[in-house]
Amino acid sequence: MLDADFFRRWMAATAASVDREAERLTALDSPIGDADHGSNLQRGFTAVRATLEKDAADTPGAILVLAGRQLISTVGGASGPLYGTLLRRTGKALGDAPEVTEEQLAEALRAGVEGVMTLGGAAPGDKTMVDALVPAVDALRDGFAAARTAAEQGAEATTPLQARKGRASYLGERSIGHQDPGATSSALLIAGLAEAAE
Ligand code: ADP
Ligand code: MG
Ligand code: MG
Repeated sequence: MLDADFFRRWMAATAASVDREAERLTALDSPIGDADHGSNLQRGFTAVRATLEKDAADTPGAILVLAGRQLISTVGGASGPLYGTLLRRTGKALGDAPEVTEEQLAEALRAGVEGVMTLGGAAPGDKTMVDALVPAVDALRDGFAAARTAAEQGAEATTPLQARKGRASYLGERSIGHQDPGATSSALLIAGLAEAAE
């Protein structure tokens, strides 16, 4: 069973990897965006970490809803509302149970990813975070390590794609040949899940 502590470890591991990889995320956002993705997410996950340290949220659902709300209010840009929706939707789908199963988390994350697709209008293949998240959710049935690998492969597979959503889509064919920053950070989020499970 996955308890509140697991979800706190997930958010902490993601905040740490976003800190480590912030420069890389911003560098990826430079040729096909506005070079702010790393700093956007660093600001967001720093706020998530600070809020979770102060707040006594003690169920998986409450922790993710709180984290999502922080991302929406601090990140801005395209990725803030999208990541915020992902975590809030996932948290709401988990309800107020003190512990959840891996299957319940997989189902809730699927609802979260559907929320991202509804809000942003992106489908798999559009060169966005969806390209890492959808394969990760599909692979979760085989465990957290499989989900992490699927997310990393999904992010790498965005390189040859032409962007159809977000700022990168303004570049048309010139978006081809660059890995999508949001898919790359989504792979960090899923890797955080695998780390929390270790
Ligand atoms: P901004 O483009 O506003 O500067 P960020 O740089 O923080 O925002 O985030 C860019 C990332 O957001 C992209 O790499 C992409 O993965 C994701 N993104 C942008 N628009 C969408 C969308 N409509 N649906 C899903 N993801 C999107
Ligand atoms: Mg940007
Ligand atoms: Mg921006």
